[in-house]
Amino acid sequence: MKQKLQSLLETTLKSISVAKNEKVLSDLETTILGRKGELTKILRSLSALSVEEKKEVGKFANEIKVELKNKFELQRQVFEAEKFSNIAEEEWLDITFPGIKPEEGSRHPISRFIDEVEDVFGKMGFTFADGPEIEDDWHNFTALNIPPDHPARDMQDTFWVKDMEKIVLRTQTSDVQIRYMENSKPPIRIIAPGKTYRKDSDATHSPMFHQYEGLMIDRDTSLANLKAVLLEALRQLIAPDLNLRFRLSYFPFTEPSIEVDCSCVNCGGSGEMPDGKNCRVCKRTGWLEIGGAGMVHPNVLKNVGIDPEEYNGFAFGFGLERQIMIKYKIDDLRLFFENDLRFLRQFA
Ligand SMILES: [Zn+2]
Repeated sequence: MKQKLQSLLETTLKSISVAKNEKVLSDLETTILGRKGELTKILRSLSALSVEEKKEVGKFANEIKVELKNKFELQRQVFEAEKFSNIAEEEWLDITFPGIKPEEGSRHPISRFIDEVEDVFGKMGFTFADGPEIEDDWHNFTALNIPPDHPARDMQDTFWVKDMEKIVLRTQTSDVQIRYMENSKPPIRIIAPGKTYRKDSDATHSPMFHQYEGLMIDRDTSLANLKAVLLEALRQLIAPDLNLRFRLSYFPFTEPSIEVDCSCVNCGGSGEMPDGKNCRVCKRTGWLEIGGAGMVHPNVLKNVGIDPEEYNGFAFGFGLERQIMIKYKIDDLRLFFENDLRFLRQFA
């Protein structure tokens, strides 16, 4: 028995000295000193010996146990020390090394322009108003003086919500005007930018696009007020030397109705480039269409409970992307929605 213990001690000491790392060391410790370890087994078998032998062998076995425990502990400390001495090699830090610049995002040109619209009109007393993009028939059409069967409903290629009667993705932001007027009393001055939806898709049309809509209701407002407000705002938003032209038009919700054109920023409104060639952007007309406007139709005011004998007002609705395209000379609407960083970085 003593011999068996002696040889276990020797082979274990040898194994400890060649253990490569902490893992190997603790596995070895479990095999020898663990609950089911070799030394433990020997200690348990002592009960079969005589009292005399038990005393002698037991003492020896305990000495071996203590010695091995100390050896394991010592070797563990060696590994620990090595680990810390390696840190200087593996985890060094050069504080003079130049930093790594984090990737920086930037505002999308549409979001940025919406901020500018709110800012410019805000300075003229227009407050921001918002409404739902999924709209009912009343707010999108009927209240705007577009009764059922009116041809204007076909003009705006509408997305209808499946299985829901008379629910649409709003075709213009004018629904916000109705909702706002239903809930407040004149005087009213609001600006309402937002998403709109129509079945249309090419270089200048997208099924989802943005509009911004303005509304002013007060006593004695006029087209002259409208022109003054738009000229001031669009000069700040698009180009400081911009001019505007009003052309008579037709919309169900305004009377009179006008189309708003701005002078071409590409040729300065002359229709001609410095080299005498025709301007491609405005096709030599000198003007670019930007949206519709007019004096709010008395029927619309009646629909929201405002007396058209006492109050009147003007409204306008512009394509938001259209104005950004004019401002920055962008020729394809789809660029706004493709998320190509080469395009977006130019606005950062
Ligand atoms: Zn032009």
